[in-house]
Amino acid sequence: MLIYSAENLQEAYLMVGLLQQAGIEVTLKNENLQGAIGEIPFTHTYPELHLLDERDETLARKIITEYESSREHLKIITCPACGEENPANFPSCWACETQLGASRT
Ligand SMILES: [Zn+2]
Repeated sequence: MLIYSAENLQEAYLMVGLLQQAGIEVTLKNENLQGAIGEIPFTHTYPELHLLDERDETLARKIITEYESSREHLKIITCPACGEENPANFPSCWACETQLGASRT
């Protein structure tokens, strides 16, 4: 069953590694399709991770969720007041102490 669609092959390989570390067996599909640039015009295929054993689904989804939330913390947001860059998990700007993200919620 399909468990994850990666944005690119690098991410797909990373995810395969994370899942295999947890003892989850996955197969990677569309791996070769994306490598053949120019041979599949006008279509974009994403690398897909498929579980071999559906009983691994709960654990696999947990790992994927953790991966995505950790990636979220690496995002940079720009302070609307002074233009300094802050990690997305900062509650306020380190430079001018403007509340960050307050307007988003
Ligand atoms: Zn600022």
